Amino acid sequence: MKFSKQRQLILNAVLQSESHPTAEIIYDTLKKDNPSLSLGTVYRNLSQLESNGLIRKVKIIDHPDRYDGIVSDHAHFVCRECGKVIDIGNLEVIKLQEKVAEEIDGIVEDATVILYGRCNQCK
Ligand SMILES: [Zn+2]
Ligand SMILES: [Zn+2]
Repeated sequence: MKFSKQRQLILNAVLQSESHPTAEIIYDTLKKDNPSLSLGTVYRNLSQLESNGLIRKVKIIDHPDRYDGIVSDHAHFVCRECGKVIDIGNLEVIKLQEKVAEEIDGIVEDATVILYGRCNQCK
């Protein structure tokens, strides 16, 4: 994949953030120093970075998609009040996959786990 300056900027913005930013947040962050950047460019580059496996998209019910710089498997907790996304280790998810595989006598190949609730500040 060819890296334009803007694509590198967008990739860095996702990698440097731990808050799983939306496309709009990335756009707002980068726009200040890059006035020629458009929201469409941000969306297009995010989707290309995602299809190349450099970042991950996190789809959240009733919220815009979020982008994740951690591409290894992990689960997420989403706060319904403030929209905060917290990374959760994948151990329990792997256990669940093994249990289900045994129960259905098949193979579990993929899992996307998002837990919804209230974070420590909103509970
Ligand atoms: Zn919260
Ligand atoms: Zn994450």
